[in-house]
Amino acid sequence: MPEQHLATKKVDHARVKELVRELLIAIGENPDREGLLETPRRIANFYRDFIEYDPGKLDTVFSSVRHNQMVAVTGMRVWSMCEHHMLPFWCDVSVAYIAEDKVLGLSKFARIAHKNAHALSLQEKLVADIQTDIKQFLGTDNVAVMAKGEHLCMTMRGIRTPHRMISSVLDGQFLQPDTRAEFLSLVNAAENPRSS
Ligand SMILES: [Zn+2]
Repeated sequence: MPEQHLATKKVDHARVKELVRELLIAIGENPDREGLLETPRRIANFYRDFIEYDPGKLDTVFSSVRHNQMVAVTGMRVWSMCEHHMLPFWCDVSVAYIAEDKVLGLSKFARIAHKNAHALSLQEKLVADIQTDIKQFLGTDNVAVMAKGEHLCMTMRGIRTPHRMISSVLDGQFLQPDTRAEFLSLVNAAENPRSS
């Protein structure tokens, strides 16, 4: 169930410190020079905070009497790390759902987005994971998730080109062209308020 799907991994802080020290040596650095003395500890702290991130309570749902109303939350900026290169990527996540009999508090969408972003992932996987959780919490397939992001593995290495990657997952009523178009226009209107 959702809480198990979201189970937190544990970071072996001491082992990460040792390995970062080894990595510094392997890339020709002296891990005992002043600027690097605290680096293994800082990186181990980062991985602990990143992987063991606690999003707080996720699954508070309310019953709703308003059926068939589309609710969208857009522009939720999250940071994750690409599982192919272990380099950061950020993306702005938009979520929409059409309630059947339950609604989720607004902050829960951000918590669910952050929770899934705090892992080695890919943008395509991230939108799918967010959608899976929201479907489970709301008990409906009527959930759409879109993300627009930039990946440092493409910006600072490889082709070295700034870009935006867009990915989306749609299910339930969002598979219908009208509903899909309404979702896209809500996301666009929220992101470009002056042009709408
Ligand atoms: Zn990558």
